[in-house]
Amino acid sequence: MEKRDIVNTGKAKSLYRTDNPDFMIMEFRNDTSAFDGGKVAQLDRKGMVNNRFNAFIMDRLESAGIPTHFQQLLSARESLVKSLQMIPVECVVRNLAAGSLCRRLGIEEGIEIEPPTFELFLKNDALHDPMINESHALAFGWASADQLVRMKTLTYQVNDVLKALFADAGMLLVDYKLEFGVAGGEVVLGDEFSPDGCRIWDSETREKLDKDRFRQDLGNVVESYEIVGRRLGIDFEDTD
Ligand code: UDP
Repeated sequence: MEKRDIVNTGKAKSLYRTDNPDFMIMEFRNDTSAFDGGKVAQLDRKGMVNNRFNAFIMDRLESAGIPTHFQQLLSARESLVKSLQMIPVECVVRNLAAGSLCRRLGIEEGIEIEPPTFELFLKNDALHDPMINESHALAFGWASADQLVRMKTLTYQVNDVLKALFADAGMLLVDYKLEFGVAGGEVVLGDEFSPDGCRIWDSETREKLDKDRFRQDLGNVVESYEIVGRRLGIDFEDTD
């Protein structure tokens, strides 16, 4: 498929049109950012690592029957994805307390959350992605009732699949954010799944192995992403 013009430049990824309107090319750059772009850096190898990481996870989710936009790896930092009409809502599931939940509700970090919570945020950088509820999404036309039901079901299904996957490799899936879009009338998981958009801790030591290493200046950011990937069985060496 031929790569055409750029459609969208996000904080860590770029989307390109192809000669087929049904598909786009998602490029993982080495850029990283936190705090609504308030803190940015370039991290060597990050694009390649997240591209491979995402492909591995999407493959597992597809195998579990969860529809995703992912089609195939194209190069070290590029993947082919289905074009989606994106729903501007972020879905977050939490198994352990961390991040904004602790700040917002005064919950101690690391406390187990049972049953896991499900939260919605409006995808809007200018407003700092405010938390919303289902009635906001319906009233303002961000998502339909059917789409909200489907997004919640799929987000919890992802939890079942990935919590077990990480647990088997000695890690805790603390929380994660998912975005969805629509293609052919179907709600499909869009965006990526990588340590940039979730929290992963070592099960024994509770060492943070995700983007909090960048947010909190803990160092070894990409090295930690690679440790997570290798524990899951991903080989990062066979791509340039
Ligand atoms: N997250 C994300 N993008 C966002 C907001 C959150 O990928 O714009 C992820 C984040 O990495 C974490 C989960 O969603 O895994 C929950 O984030 P939280 O609400 O705790 O916000 P944060 O502490 O990251 O501001």
